[in-house]
Amino acid sequence: MTTPNPEPASGPSNFVRDIILDDLKTNKYQGRVHTRFPPEPNGYLHIGHAKSICLNFGLAAEFGGKTNLRFDDTNPCKEETEYVDSIIDNVHWLGFDWEDRLFYASDYFGQLYEWAVQLIKAGKAYVCDLTADEIRQYRGTPSEPGKESPYRNRGVEECLDLFARMKAGEFPDGSRTLRAKIDMASPNFNMRDPIMYRILHAEHHRTGNEWCIYPMYDYAHGQSDSIEGITHSICTLEFEDHRPLYDWYVEALGIYHPQQIEFDRLNLTYTLLSKRKLLTLVQEGHVRGWDDPRMPTLSGIRRRGYTPEALRNFCGSIGLSKTNGSIELGRLEYFVREDLNKRAPRVMAVLRPLRIVIDNYPEGQVEEMDAINNPEDAGAGTRKVPFSRVLYIEREDFREDPPKEFFRLSPGREVRLRYGYFIKCTGVVKDASGEIAEVHCTYDPATHGGNAPDGRKVKATIHWVSAAQAVSGEVRMYDNLFLKEDPGQVDEGQDFTANLNPKSLEVLVECKLEPSLADAAPGTRYQFERLGYFCVDADSAPGKLVFNRTVTLKDAWAKIEKRGKQKK
Ligand code: ATP
Ligand code: MG
Repeated sequence: MTTPNPEPASGPSNFVRDIILDDLKTNKYQGRVHTRFPPEPNGYLHIGHAKSICLNFGLAAEFGGKTNLRFDDTNPCKEETEYVDSIIDNVHWLGFDWEDRLFYASDYFGQLYEWAVQLIKAGKAYVCDLTADEIRQYRGTPSEPGKESPYRNRGVEECLDLFARMKAGEFPDGSRTLRAKIDMASPNFNMRDPIMYRILHAEHHRTGNEWCIYPMYDYAHGQSDSIEGITHSICTLEFEDHRPLYDWYVEALGIYHPQQIEFDRLNLTYTLLSKRKLLTLVQEGHVRGWDDPRMPTLSGIRRRGYTPEALRNFCGSIGLSKTNGSIELGRLEYFVREDLNKRAPRVMAVLRPLRIVIDNYPEGQVEEMDAINNPEDAGAGTRKVPFSRVLYIEREDFREDPPKEFFRLSPGREVRLRYGYFIKCTGVVKDASGEIAEVHCTYDPATHGGNAPDGRKVKATIHWVSAAQAVSGEVRMYDNLFLKEDPGQVDEGQDFTANLNPKSLEVLVECKLEPSLADAAPGTRYQFERLGYFCVDADSAPGKLVFNRTVTLKDAWAKIEKRGKQKK
């Protein structure tokens, strides 16, 4: 017997979704679901942010709600317009739309200031003259309560006057702060009279020099959610301890109270997801930029060839938890392969070319062989690939002295050239240094298209490119950026850059590609037969083709998954 499921079944089930379903049942927000994605524009978005974006936009879409994009731009020193632009571009690329709801916390500076004045008047905030160091000393420790600031009981009028003069620019940076008057003995550090405003004579990317006091993130965030009427303020676990403070502010101000729900940050093996560390990689030149295809930024993996569909499927698959863990990088790659397998046309490319001469093939003759564009997609059709007397194959597909398990081309051995003919190796020619310069073969004209009418079998099928028609290109091969599964783990005296993989990029400059790739446009993705998925790089131009390896064909995750299933 099956019981009918009364709930909408479209989204992946998780505890945040369950809370929303509950709130809809009890009509907590009059049926409204309104989420937001609130990045700080101090770097480029990374894969971790994709999890948050998919969650916020996905849940709102499922329940007919809305999602705002809001820049939490309370820190003028670290924020730049370049970051704002890249974030807007990346969220769109991932497939989400905030319609006309693009906001900035800086839009609320005026309102936040008025609310601060309201809290001073209510005796719930005060101007403090302690230095940053002193404030730290007064804070206490987890086992010891903090000490009250000597300025804590300053009169309301004096505080109002000083706060107005802070705003007017009368005092130097760091000389005074506005603090909430909560509880210096609270077991929660965030409640020990947190700073609301600091003096910073710094230009802001949007408000220019209008302000020289700036609200702390913790003071601005909850109120920004409140102003926007956010129902479910979804954020990562590190903000769990901040929730009592956010609640305190909206309660003290008597304004609309959004509900904060925390979930686990995405961590990936062999990957660092922290804007600060990613910025270090860029600034110290360990990578070519924020969009280097080795970077876990959305700009980087997009350039590398990952699709938004693959990322969304991955994010949907990982679920939500109340404890932080780590997801295998192989799982992300699995979703990239699964998506590209359906959409990327197959082509032939030789990355490390070895010259093959077919001695019995007529000189000057060129045949157009039929090749299938995508066996996964019947609608993708076929194309013609030229075949001639001189070809390139991969160096690793030939061994003069083959080991036992090696079934590809070697002296006396016959193999199939995919969509071509059966060829048999008759000998090698070496250069002065003893390197193999070219391999000589004969072909069997009866095996046109790669099929033997007599039913004879070969143990290997290899790919090739006809030399005369080949286009040359550069292929950038990527490996994990870090050697350690947890790159944040470092030995004493070292920083995380010590874990960088010195071989994360290998550039192959002598690659030979089938001629159909001559005009391939940047961003186009292909499967190079037997080699992996590749994407045309932004540096590419006609006559100067550049490819990025997106992902190998090796499917480590499927194996892991299979092993897991067998264990059950
Ligand atoms: P980072 O530590 O990389 O600088 P952040 O949390 O400071 O990240 P924000 O710009 O403040 O970055 O993040 C915007 C939103 O994305 C926040 O709601 C944050 O919780 C979420 N987010 C950031 N990193 C991750 C992650 N690894 N997994 C899931 N969500 C994340
Ligand atoms: Mg942050």
